[in-house]
Amino acid sequence: MDDDRENMIERCRAHVQSLLDKKHGGIQETSYPSTSLNFLKNLPPNSLIKLNIIISGAGLGGLSTAIALRRRGHKVKVFEKAPALNEVGAGIQVPPNSSRLLSKLGVGSYLDGKTAEPEAIRVRRWKDGSVLSITALKSSFREKFGAPYFVVHRAGLQGALFECAKDLGVEIHLGSGVSRYDDESGKVVLENGGVHSADLIVAADGVHSSARPVVLGGVNQPAREAGFAAYRAVVDVDLMKQDSEVAWLLDSPGQNLWIGDGRHAMTYPIANGKSFNMVLSHPSDSDPSTWSQDQGNIIRDMRKQFENWDPTLVKVINMIQKTLKWPLLTGVPLSKWLSPTKRLLIIGDAAHAMVPYMSQGAATAVEDGAALAEILSLITSPSELPDALDIYERVRILRTGQMQEASLVNGKLWHFADGAEQQARDKAMKRAESELEGENPNQWNNSEAAAWAYGYNAEYEVRRAWNERASRASGRL
Ligand SMILES: Cc1cc2nc3c(=O)[nH]c(=O)nc-3n(C[C@H](O)[C@H](O)[C@H](O)COP(=O)(O)OP(=O)(O)OC[C@H]3O[C@@H](n4cnc5c(N)ncnc54)[C@H](O)[C@@H]3O)c2cc1C
Repeated sequence: MDDDRENMIERCRAHVQSLLDKKHGGIQETSYPSTSLNFLKNLPPNSLIKLNIIISGAGLGGLSTAIALRRRGHKVKVFEKAPALNEVGAGIQVPPNSSRLLSKLGVGSYLDGKTAEPEAIRVRRWKDGSVLSITALKSSFREKFGAPYFVVHRAGLQGALFECAKDLGVEIHLGSGVSRYDDESGKVVLENGGVHSADLIVAADGVHSSARPVVLGGVNQPAREAGFAAYRAVVDVDLMKQDSEVAWLLDSPGQNLWIGDGRHAMTYPIANGKSFNMVLSHPSDSDPSTWSQDQGNIIRDMRKQFENWDPTLVKVINMIQKTLKWPLLTGVPLSKWLSPTKRLLIIGDAAHAMVPYMSQGAATAVEDGAALAEILSLITSPSELPDALDIYERVRILRTGQMQEASLVNGKLWHFADGAEQQARDKAMKRAESELEGENPNQWNNSEAAAWAYGYNAEYEVRRAWNERASRASGRL
């Protein structure tokens, strides 16, 4: 209790100091109960210090970071290796910790008509599809976390980010891969020979990042295979509608997750019900470079992985005409995301690849961008930049490291073979349903895990860490 009071006093003191200093955007919320500053929440304050920032990679992480930084008044250039935007796969889930930020960044209107909010996620037993646990999403998540849990086609999300970034004045250069990062001089050398310099280079160049070894002093720590691969596919909904045994999966937009021995199948409709998205995770220890690209072989292996599962699921799997087999990689929390000169920073999958079992890889990349823009808006002189980046790095390494952990925990919770552990898990899921409280193994419904995952405010967390540092420096903490 005393600690709480001390923290509140400290927060209040920081606010008063900030209002007196008038050095930066002031405060966006009060330490006392009031909503009088709520109107500011959708209006990010401009940074006092305007930086030239280069971003490598125009994936979901790079583009959302570009928007967040541009909105604060920085000059942003994005260099993307691919000649055209190329988000592969199909659907992506956007949980509230990310949708809240995307809305604040003004991406919402670019997504109009492209998203769907599932009513619920149903966790089902592998063998017969019986429901083990239901998480109400639509109204419940909005109410609990103040933002929607939505699904969208990846290309739709990337296109929306691209259009929004362009409209804000971000320079985006496609077909412009970075061949070398020179963090000493703050320069990137492009594959086409161009050389560009910046105050800060943000590498959002994905799981096989070439910036990561530079940050780590020449020693790479690549993400590693987690022992699983996923078949990613979309199913023709016209085929599904013709079969009454599977058509109900399209009735109301909802997510269904079948869980079983070492495997699971996540499904949901996207694109206003025009496509049905499937991710089928299964064990795979072989080297991805040896995988056959032949569709006949892949589809045969995919069906074999899920034979004897719930006949409804098997029917939908048999409707898949084309699929991609995708390795599932995870990093472990890195010691740093920043090069020693503090001029090169890695974010997104380059910094924190994770297995997709919490649906948080892109979501945490959106957090990375919003949090970076926020902390840079708090500095009042360029000399504070290294400190701000250090604080950012520590806050983000912890958050994303815990998300890597939570994602692997879901794999453990979902993949028990039939037996004592599976029975205990199923019982615990059902008990939690009826008693509403308890140690729920469904992390969407586990109140503590859900509050941590979806209630997280990435901007607030870096702001708090920055204010604590300011208080410590002035001897107030
Ligand atoms: C099966 C599956 C399901 C998933 N589902 C979800 C989900 O539901 N929700 C969620 O939040 N996340 C999900 N994820 C994770 C999510 O897809 C990733 O975390 C996210 O796309 C990473 O974004 P990024 O921008 O960091 O990297 P990427 O998307 O990999 O983008 C990197 C970009 O950098 C470019 N690039 C690479 N090298 C260079 C270079 N040298 N110079 C310039 N450009 C370069 C690449 O061409 C690419 O465009 C899922 C992942 C998988 C595999």
